[in-house]
Amino acid sequence: MSAENPMAIHVEEQVHAWEAGGSASAEALSGWVSARLAAHEAALAALLAVEAPRNPENSLRLFDAAIEQLNRAGAQAGVLNSVAVDKAVRDQALQEAQRVAQAGSALSLNRQVYEALAAISLEDASPATKHFVERTLLSYRLAGVDKDQATRDRLQALQEKATGLSLEFSRNIQEGGKTIEATAAELDGLPADYLARHQPDSEGRITLSTDQPDMQPVMTFANSAALRERMYLAYNTRAYPANKQILLDLLATRQEIATVLGFRSWADLATADQMMGSAANVRTFLAKLDEASHEGALREHALILEFARTRQPELAAIDITSRGYWYEQFRRSAFDFDSQSVRPYFPYAQVEAGVLETAARLFKVEFRRSSALAWDPAVSVFEVIEDGETVGRFYLDMHPREGKDKWFSAAPIVTGVRGGSLPEAALICNFPNGSKDDPGLLQYSDVVTYFHEFGHLMHAILGGRTEWAGLSGFATEGDFVEVPSQMLEEFFRDEKLLQAFARHYQTGETLSSEMIRKMKLSGAFGRADWVRSQLYYTTLSLDLHDQDPAGLDLDATTRRLHDRLQLWTWLDGNRMYASFGHLTGYSSNYYTYAFDKVIALDFFAQFDPADLLGCDAGARYRKTVLEQGGSKPGRQMVRDFLGRDEEFAAFSQWLNEEFEGQLPEAGA
Ligand SMILES: [Zn+2]
Repeated sequence: MSAENPMAIHVEEQVHAWEAGGSASAEALSGWVSARLAAHEAALAALLAVEAPRNPENSLRLFDAAIEQLNRAGAQAGVLNSVAVDKAVRDQALQEAQRVAQAGSALSLNRQVYEALAAISLEDASPATKHFVERTLLSYRLAGVDKDQATRDRLQALQEKATGLSLEFSRNIQEGGKTIEATAAELDGLPADYLARHQPDSEGRITLSTDQPDMQPVMTFANSAALRERMYLAYNTRAYPANKQILLDLLATRQEIATVLGFRSWADLATADQMMGSAANVRTFLAKLDEASHEGALREHALILEFARTRQPELAAIDITSRGYWYEQFRRSAFDFDSQSVRPYFPYAQVEAGVLETAARLFKVEFRRSSALAWDPAVSVFEVIEDGETVGRFYLDMHPREGKDKWFSAAPIVTGVRGGSLPEAALICNFPNGSKDDPGLLQYSDVVTYFHEFGHLMHAILGGRTEWAGLSGFATEGDFVEVPSQMLEEFFRDEKLLQAFARHYQTGETLSSEMIRKMKLSGAFGRADWVRSQLYYTTLSLDLHDQDPAGLDLDATTRRLHDRLQLWTWLDGNRMYASFGHLTGYSSNYYTYAFDKVIALDFFAQFDPADLLGCDAGARYRKTVLEQGGSKPGRQMVRDFLGRDEEFAAFSQWLNEEFEGQLPEAGA
């Protein structure tokens, strides 16, 4: 296949790394990535060889093919690094991800490619094509393509260094699980199925890991403050001390990149091509968040502390390790709601069916189980069908496995494009698994997480028929990406929708309206405090990237922000920054979650509460937002769907509405 023949670029061989045996052998994976990189190089060579006047068809098409190959290689190496059973394959996948990132970094500094794209005539081009070219040229300038050769070489070396440090940081978290020991007495308060899974050994010791399914219930239910404290410290030091220096090096590298590019700070650089635009705009947004949540959080904290003192009169303050526990106790008492009481209604298999059914009805598609091969036998594969046609595919890898990443995420597998590849995406989660002896019961917060991740998945699939692969699915501004996921979360609040799948795993009884009312009330309580935690993480993410990192004291900075923004007392030995995984991907832009929450709630308010799935907002949302992928600026999508810019009203109402008048007065 010659590089001069653009058609050759579209020949599909082994769309998936694992078809080449890439999930079974490190060598096969490496070979598969090499083939993608070769196709990427061939497309770029063909792009540069074009002699005719440049237009989107003869030039942008080749650039798009080049990045499609790169995206695919990066996506699948990334997924295998998270999920492969064999450590050798995970290690190889990490190296391959670095190799792809290097190619990406080289492309982002390739001045010939930049000049070729800048020469494309956009006279009769579609708005999406114009947006694609303009956005790409902006990202080229932000990468420093217009600098001299020596500076570009320096930038490339710095980018590679930052990528390597980021991967190392993430991997230390992924593989840094710890265990703690507990006595049977310390497990008092934990649910029966948790106790059944954690039997004492011959000497009466029980071993607990820092993985989510072990950690979270301890922090929520364990009556033993000592156990909660040990778990909290183990969890927050699982990548400490290794990640402390790695983080400092990463921050210094990022700041150097920003300086070379003429930006005051990394945060200014990282927001320049986002909806937010600058670090100063982020600070303005954070001030609004602070204002919106301040009073509510004080009220919540006062209620919790007063309640805790009815149980422990000598309690001076509540520390950060006891916050989840006291929230749970308060909710049980104030709302007559025990979050354990709804778990039997959420066995994993029913939740999966319920989330899929909701999304299918909302977006008017059908999901069919597929026999397609995945990277592991534990993965379920589904085809997405619309009007009898397959329009995408997704992979559900939903339960913990030895060596697998411990987090919850959605990941692209193949970026779709109109008339070309079908979009494919995966969910990689760690929900409890059902088995013969264990129903795999989820907490209701897990169910919300499921809706969240499925929102991302639908964005990748339904946004997978854009004009260009480079605009597909998640290719919006990074600070718009959490809108579709947080929008779908809100559907969990609907009673009818919940009752369609929440049935007791033993009796088959439907979750009652009264229990749902209490669950929602209880879920709504604590939102202001939740926003404060987001504000804390967000400010940390911004501050670490918005100052000169020379002489930065991570411990002091974290502590100072905690004391300023959190009402719960600090615990010495907490090194949360060393396992704050979002610092790699989001860097300074963790504000994305809170900012997108404001947009998502405004979006959700457009749906008819009496008929969430049937009203016309679903179709309109799908068309004006999801299907666009990155074809338009996020700002434009907000205006197209809302008819205006987003406002704080729905967010403020969400913070306060549901429990108003239903709470005991503080001091009463
Ligand atoms: Zn998300």
